[in-house]
Amino acid sequence: MKNKIHEGRKFSYDIIEATHKKYLNKKGFNKSKYLEKRNCPICKNKKYRYLFKKRGGIYVCCKNCNMVYLNPVFKNKSLILHYKNLCDLQSAIIKNENRFYIKIYTKGLNAIEKYKKRGSLLDVGCSSGYFLDLAKKNKWNTFGIELNKKEAKISKKNILFMKKNYMKLTITRHTM
Ligand SMILES: [Zn+2]
Repeated sequence: MKNKIHEGRKFSYDIIEATHKKYLNKKGFNKSKYLEKRNCPICKNKKYRYLFKKRGGIYVCCKNCNMVYLNPVFKNKSLILHYKNLCDLQSAIIKNENRFYIKIYTKGLNAIEKYKKRGSLLDVGCSSGYFLDLAKKNKWNTFGIELNKKEAKISKKNILFMKKNYMKLTITRHTM
């Protein structure tokens, strides 16, 4: 059953579907050149049982700890390329489905504020900063990290570049 909160999101579903197509082979699975096998991300066990296929990915269950995870998974290299090349896709989706995102982000912020009312907030993968805008209105000191430079610029200002392991991250001091 579809979650009601996702109703009317045709714009993003169409875009996501179209963007995802290039990763699929003729059988509808993600192409192996983008993928790598992995052990359970929680307990590192190699043994798993097959669960289901969704959007070209294979979901398995760890035989040791029951963690459900994607295996094979996209290589870091593939993910970085994907997110860097998305350009302003995510911001277009958010703009077109503003009402949906306000609902989702308000729910998320309310959940956080049950435990902490104010302070510093870091959004990892902040896209164009809509969640941070909302948090800022609620008097949070907001920060964001975004791989996609175009979106990071929308999310705003004082952009620093930081090398961390294999990723080049864009840290935004969110000032709006
Ligand atoms: Zn496990």
